[in-house]
Amino acid sequence: MPSKIIDKDTPINIVGAGVFGLSTALHLARRGYRNVTIFDKQPYEKTLYSYLNGCDAASADFNKIIRAAYGPQTEYQQLTLEAISEWNAWNSELASSKSVPPGMNSTDRVFVNCGELSLLDADELPAFELATISGMDAAGHKDTQFSTTDPSHLAMAEKKGFGFAMDPFKRVDRGKKNVGVLDSTGGMAVADKACRFALHKARTLGVHTVLDPVRGALESLCYDESGKTVTGIKTRDGIVHQAALTVLACGGWTPSILPELDGLCETTAGSVVHFRIPRESPLFERFAPQNFPTWAYNMREGAEGGLYGFPRDENGVLKIGYRGTKYTNPRVQHDGAERSVPVTRWSTSPGQSQENLKAIPQQALKVITKFLNEFIPELKAEGIDIFLTRVCWYTDSFDNHFVIDRVPEREGLMVATGGSGHAFKFLPVIGNYVVDRIEGVGPDRPALKAWKWRQLQKDQKPLNVLMEGSQGSRALEKVPLVPDSELELNPKARL
Ligand SMILES: Cc1cc2nc3c(=O)[nH]c(=O)nc-3n(C[C@H](O)[C@H](O)[C@H](O)COP(=O)(O)OP(=O)(O)OC[C@H]3O[C@@H](n4cnc5c(N)ncnc54)[C@H](O)[C@@H]3O)c2cc1C
Repeated sequence: MPSKIIDKDTPINIVGAGVFGLSTALHLARRGYRNVTIFDKQPYEKTLYSYLNGCDAASADFNKIIRAAYGPQTEYQQLTLEAISEWNAWNSELASSKSVPPGMNSTDRVFVNCGELSLLDADELPAFELATISGMDAAGHKDTQFSTTDPSHLAMAEKKGFGFAMDPFKRVDRGKKNVGVLDSTGGMAVADKACRFALHKARTLGVHTVLDPVRGALESLCYDESGKTVTGIKTRDGIVHQAALTVLACGGWTPSILPELDGLCETTAGSVVHFRIPRESPLFERFAPQNFPTWAYNMREGAEGGLYGFPRDENGVLKIGYRGTKYTNPRVQHDGAERSVPVTRWSTSPGQSQENLKAIPQQALKVITKFLNEFIPELKAEGIDIFLTRVCWYTDSFDNHFVIDRVPEREGLMVATGGSGHAFKFLPVIGNYVVDRIEGVGPDRPALKAWKWRQLQKDQKPLNVLMEGSQGSRALEKVPLVPDSELELNPKARL
């Protein structure tokens, strides 16, 4: 798509203050764009990107995995290494008090390098993990990936201070298999604080923000007389905000806002449970990030696999997620087509009569519980139960690549979306590529090529099957759910 150069003083609207919107704003400002505004329907100054405060954007969370382990996809490996360098710079900025958002202080960190362990129910490392090891070697990062069953790797991990992360579930002591690989460059982002920091940085560079359920909520796109050029947005208060370029970065809400994404992106739900480990419990230390890595288990094994988790956070919250099955919420929209739209504990999408979703799919809970019984029986033994569940909305593309491009046939409109469950780690850098796309810089780089507007080709097998609709087996209305009442959850009482 040809890109039109825009003057650095012309207004640019970004809709959505999640990872894609924040990073885009930050990098536009860094490149000298002086009239950038981010709109969001969520009042993040008050809610601070905290799920506990009612935020339900994918980016608003306790923590997210950071890994360079991308198998043969070296473009993402390279991007992660670039991001990790920025994550470390952000930590240094915080530590030196050079730039600290309101409510945070110089002891806060946005990246924790606790390692990321990919475990498998296998006898040896599969091709994906082997490709990561050789890919990192080739990129000059030898001796950063440690196989859990190789004695020389165990010794190396120990020497580099990652011995704790090689068998965090005490599999060997329990006489069980412990096959996996530790990515010692990885760990986790402290998601809510990272978003607050990015927002603060963007604002410091002059980005305007309208974060408000009425004044910041996109009501509609505005067009010129031809009906083909987007001239800005109208927010829920009726005000029109003119712009030469509007970037839609609405996460899981994007596909229902922009029907052209049909077949390219769909919003789907991952399932998450949270435990709270009391400070006085011996498990508080055991699951601290200096003693426990982020982990993934059987990530490519379908409905019975797809588990991942984290060390506990500063308040003792231990998060475990399941993405073996990603659920949908198909609704008939104004044009008569069915599209999946987010429904969460805190909100529904416009036009949805269904109540908020204070429940978790039974299948997700079953797989998580089976894993916990085998890998972390200590939680049950200590009487530590789930205190809060979540369905968290991905924006999946059919090939797991992001979508960062101008919208065909709609001058003045662009999308930055399609995170497909792995975009958070790129918060510090992804916006740089969005701005490259805007300016037409380096369009032939592998990542930018992969993120182009595209269609599933006839002979192409999708990694994510999209738009199965209400007839599909993953539609939430068809799936047995376990409500809060059955789990005896009372999140509000425990906040
Ligand atoms: C369960 C789960 C686990 C994940 N784990 C990881 C991980 O471990 N590591 C990793 O790297 N990535 C992970 N991801 C992916 C990552 O979180 C996402 O790719 C990323 O956060 C997406 O950011 P976004 O900006 O596209 O969307 P979001 O964060 O959802 O932001 C979209 C924003 O748009 C706003 N918006 C929507 N509609 C409107 C409107 N009409 N008007 C105004 N504003 C609007 C919303 O309020 C929201 O703030 C995970 C995702 C999920 C769902």
